[in-house]
Amino acid sequence: MIRINEHYTKLKASYLFSDIAKRVSAFQEAHPEKDVIKLGIGDVTRALPTACVEAFHKAVDDMATEAGFHGYGPEQGYAFLRDAIAENDFKSRGADISPDEIFVSDGAKCDTGNIQEIFSGDATIAIPDPVYPVYLDTNVMAGRTGANNDGRYEGVVYLDCREENGFIPALPEKPVDLIYLCFPNNPTGTTITKEQLKAWVDYAKENRAIILYDAAYEAFVTDESLPRSIYEVEGAKEVAIEFRSFSKTAGFTGTRCAFTVVPKELKAWDADGNAHSVHALWNRRHCTKFNGVSYPVQKAAAAVYSEEGKAQVKGLVDYYLNNAAIIRKEMAALGYELVGGDNSPYIWINGKCDSWEFFDLLLTKAGVVCTPGAGFGSCGNGFIRISAFNSLENVEKAMARIREALN
Ligand SMILES: *Cc1c(COP(=O)(O)O)cnc(C)c1O
Repeated sequence: MIRINEHYTKLKASYLFSDIAKRVSAFQEAHPEKDVIKLGIGDVTRALPTACVEAFHKAVDDMATEAGFHGYGPEQGYAFLRDAIAENDFKSRGADISPDEIFVSDGAKCDTGNIQEIFSGDATIAIPDPVYPVYLDTNVMAGRTGANNDGRYEGVVYLDCREENGFIPALPEKPVDLIYLCFPNNPTGTTITKEQLKAWVDYAKENRAIILYDAAYEAFVTDESLPRSIYEVEGAKEVAIEFRSFSKTAGFTGTRCAFTVVPKELKAWDADGNAHSVHALWNRRHCTKFNGVSYPVQKAAAAVYSEEGKAQVKGLVDYYLNNAAIIRKEMAALGYELVGGDNSPYIWINGKCDSWEFFDLLLTKAGVVCTPGAGFGSCGNGFIRISAFNSLENVEKAMARIREALN
């Protein structure tokens, strides 16, 4: 008799975005005349940068010729892309990352979800609350947690992010082995300073822990004093893996390209205390389970680093940041406490009531869909996330309706 992986049964039955979709479609069925503006799901809305589209087309044409055809490529990604990433994303910011420390993949979701499997099944994990749900759920699937009681899994060290700590978690009180951090944060939109990040790097060194740093939104950091990579912090190469993606930065959510940085000096230990190269482990895992991102997609991603590509990506990011500034201003004017939206596409708003109640209020009174904060962890209760990923017209319309409904 084939049995299931019973850890899956511990997962919370409902999935945030399907719950939202159900409520939205119920509302639409009851009010077919009302149009609904979606500022909920974290997906981009604007077209791919033209530099990427041109490179994408050209690479497809290459594939149509014998001379330009590409079959399986290197699992870790083509040198043209890894070189461009190392130079533009890291070396230019003073972070000494070499191309062979970069693993190109089809998504930061997969990478942040898969990374845990190269670490021990009994590793103690620390996960921010609230945060992108992938980190927690993949550890539940792997059996690193106990049951879920009242919204929290046994065995997980939750890093509470609340108004009191400016949504930057305090260092854990007991030693942990794996630490997930995400800045600019999804869902709170908050950022971390170099000094604050240095405290985590020092903690990881002292405890021989590893930081899994998700920087999927780094392109939204416009404040030059803030780090865009954890490797801008001294010593981070010894203790951190960084996840990046072209999804939110260059509109690749439907095109699929991302990368993970695993520095060569990063170590983890076996039960006998022997040190192992994490780079070698991840390389083994990546090559065994992944066959590379398609050549045209990698060409499209590399175009992000051309002069035109850089300017166009900045145009996209600025467009969304302008939306975010409008949302911030309008919601603050209505008297709400909020964070995020200045170096991030997300605004995290204290709704002063239950998250789902506030969600329903915005949906039924204003026809605007947001994301209830409770879906990202129990510390998210009472908050909602509004996303700046939409057209300027829709954001303005949504804010006018909210103003009218809540004033
Ligand atoms: C959207 C998102 C990702 C997913 O990126 P993909 O490369 O599209 O898989 C990863 N991390 C966070 C925090 C995100 O919000």
